[in-house]
Amino acid sequence: MPSGSAIRGSRVGAGPARPTERCEPAPRRPVTYWCGKGHMLKILLAAEAEIPETWDCPHCGQPAGQDAHNPPGRARTEPYKSHLAYVKERRSEADGEALLAEALAALRARRRGESI
Ligand SMILES: [Zn+2]
Repeated sequence: MPSGSAIRGSRVGAGPARPTERCEPAPRRPVTYWCGKGHMLKILLAAEAEIPETWDCPHCGQPAGQDAHNPPGRARTEPYKSHLAYVKERRSEADGEALLAEALAALRARRRGESI
């Protein structure tokens, strides 16, 4: 509370508004993260700050996420494609090329037929 009697003669409201908000501690909110190894982290973030999707676990260094049942560490540990996925990809690519070649051949044949 402002004590008006401490400073006599100073007119309240005469000076510029004091930035009292800056003096107050920033409001914080707790955010909980779980890493792939089951570590739980509680972090206090500034209320106006954006909550990061992941947070590096200080215990094991793995990325921790806000979903306890689906920590991001597991998803990141399987970046390689399975053999089947690779074959499928190649096959679909080959199929696409074959279809394209077929379509081009048909188009050329049709044009040839028209021109003759
Ligand atoms: Zn951890």
